[in-house]
Amino acid sequence: MLTSKTRVCNLCEATCGLELELSGQDIKSIKADPDDVFSKGAYCPKSQGLKDLYQDPDRLRKPLKKTAQGFQEIPWEQALDEVAERIVKLQSQHGKASIATYTGNPNVHNLGAMLALPMLLRALKSPHRYSATSVDQLPHMLIAHLMFGHSLMLPIADVDRANYMLIIGANPVVSNGSLLTAAGLSSKLKQIQKRGGKVTVIDPRYTETASQATEHHFIKPGKDIYLLAAIVKGLLTSTTHKQAPHIKGLDILMDAFGDYEDPHFEARTGMSPEIVDRIIHDLHFYEGAICYGRMGVSTQEHGSLCQWLINVINFLTGNLDSAGGVMFTDPAIDILNYISRGAHHKKFARRKTRVRGLPSFEGEFPVAALAEEILTSGEGQIKGLISIAGNPALSTPNGEQMRSALDKLDLFVAIDYYITESSAHADYILPPCSPLERSHYDLVFNALAIRNTARFSEATFKKQGKEDFDIILELWKRLDHGSKFQNFKIGAIAQGMIWLGPERILDGMLRRGPHKLTLKRLRENPHGIDLGALTPQLPDKLRTPDKKLDLAPEVLIKQFSQVKAQLQKEPNPTADGFQLIGRRNLRSNNSWMHNCQSLHLKKRDFHVLVNEDDGAALGLSNGQTVRVSGAVGSIEAPVRLTDKIMKGVVSMPHGWGHQEGRSKLKQAIAMGGANINQILSDQEVEPVSGNAILNGQRVHVSALELSQP
Ligand code: SF4
Repeated sequence: MLTSKTRVCNLCEATCGLELELSGQDIKSIKADPDDVFSKGAYCPKSQGLKDLYQDPDRLRKPLKKTAQGFQEIPWEQALDEVAERIVKLQSQHGKASIATYTGNPNVHNLGAMLALPMLLRALKSPHRYSATSVDQLPHMLIAHLMFGHSLMLPIADVDRANYMLIIGANPVVSNGSLLTAAGLSSKLKQIQKRGGKVTVIDPRYTETASQATEHHFIKPGKDIYLLAAIVKGLLTSTTHKQAPHIKGLDILMDAFGDYEDPHFEARTGMSPEIVDRIIHDLHFYEGAICYGRMGVSTQEHGSLCQWLINVINFLTGNLDSAGGVMFTDPAIDILNYISRGAHHKKFARRKTRVRGLPSFEGEFPVAALAEEILTSGEGQIKGLISIAGNPALSTPNGEQMRSALDKLDLFVAIDYYITESSAHADYILPPCSPLERSHYDLVFNALAIRNTARFSEATFKKQGKEDFDIILELWKRLDHGSKFQNFKIGAIAQGMIWLGPERILDGMLRRGPHKLTLKRLRENPHGIDLGALTPQLPDKLRTPDKKLDLAPEVLIKQFSQVKAQLQKEPNPTADGFQLIGRRNLRSNNSWMHNCQSLHLKKRDFHVLVNEDDGAALGLSNGQTVRVSGAVGSIEAPVRLTDKIMKGVVSMPHGWGHQEGRSKLKQAIAMGGANINQILSDQEVEPVSGNAILNGQRVHVSALELSQP
């Protein structure tokens, strides 16, 4: 008999509502839920990955322990006991800092992991925390912290009411929005244009979003700071700005831009100054205008300055906290009350990494420093690692160095579905059940969504094994047994949380939230509850100690003066080689998705995109394999010549390059491709936050010498 169940997809930030047609344990189809209050029938092909992941024979079902004969299955109790025992032993021998953690991006899409992880991290008492944040959105979060007082106070583009959208270094038609939870963004961008508005895309590549925009302009990789600064300068001189009581720093900002002149703007950016004038005009002209920049802007040399100036632009045009501009959310659970609650001044650069001196943010160090912290001996050296839903060997720069580092560890524990390029090095792999075997509520992405809604997904299937919540708390219980937290024994608290489960904890959070919901009400509304459009939230929502929005944080003004000091220098027109940029695939997000049969059998988009003029100069032809060499290595991949990328720029997507002998992802290995992180240097980081520079690193491209027959 066929049954139907609704579920919110947790494979990316768009959080589309889905309808699964089931026959017993068999998934007959996964379609969009047209009645979902948020996504209203939007979804994408990646949703089919939920079925693939559930059924994948490569997915681990039991814990593995590495032995002389390779990985062997062991019972859960033994695995958890042994792992906890070895962590305790390592820390007692080498100190608390000898154990590091790496948390991958899927954790943020996982209710149980979000609830349990803080407990484990606290129990370990190690300064060595790393995550995928610092190869991604760290600048957004740091700037939100500095300007608004909380790293998750991210201004969200109100695309449903906007009439102009300036999109820089983002491809929402393919990503479906990032730090902008908005299912079906492609049609929303069309709607802006249909109602007489305009969408302008700035990108070194003519992206899928550019193809649907009103205008597209190329910009050289890593040069967005000069465009944004030119816009800010123009806005500051073309309008007078009143200072509201909850705003500070406008005078400092005006002072910083008073002498800003870029004599080499065109040569530096590849853009004509007339485009800047047009953008400034459009930002003024359209009521409800958004400036939005994402991954391409964050993961470059001046990512933090760029995200700061994007917020400044939205403020100067009157579009910060205003309908049709960028706004703050009011979700059913206010995540700001649960995450990062410590003293504001202690969150950034409180500590520095041992080897390179990179700054901490909210208790984490930039992941670009992880391998060297494992490989460099001395006090505080990392000897053990717990990786939770992460694949740093494939997903962080200088992947080969990371692999060597993972091999050097005395203890490596991976909480992972698969034997990946990283977990293959582990002593223990603790596999959680698949997403369909656990219930789901988006703690984070409701706080980043273009509309306030609340949706709960029941587990589609009965849980086989343990979910991340259970594994993490079981470890916590074993690690901290006997110690106390607020007069309660940790072991008892952990046991209590396990007994409650994520759902009862969620119910308590919903009841305490601003909309006073209950889990029962969400269960009665399987398509979700609409809580309304975003509304102005300032100044009440500000979390800065003085409750003011800071337009000119000191650390940014200081860094900006260094940028200004370089402005008179002429850019080098004959810089060597190419600049490499990443790109997002519609059918891919996390690297494990390459093991999904239904997503990649027909389309494999891992080519090196090269401008056709550059290709002709190098004597390349379409489909030919080329060698791409970067600071730390070389990879080979097929080339695609195109006029859709700027001259001097090449593009490759992230997460490919699964190889036989390095993982057990059979389908992904069969797909082929190359891993961009084998050539990206871990030494190139953004100066303010330490975020990895993934866009704009220099590479060389050459045709492969054909061996003589
Ligand atoms: S866009 Fe994201 S959330 Fe929506 S169906 Fe695709 S993967 Fe799932």
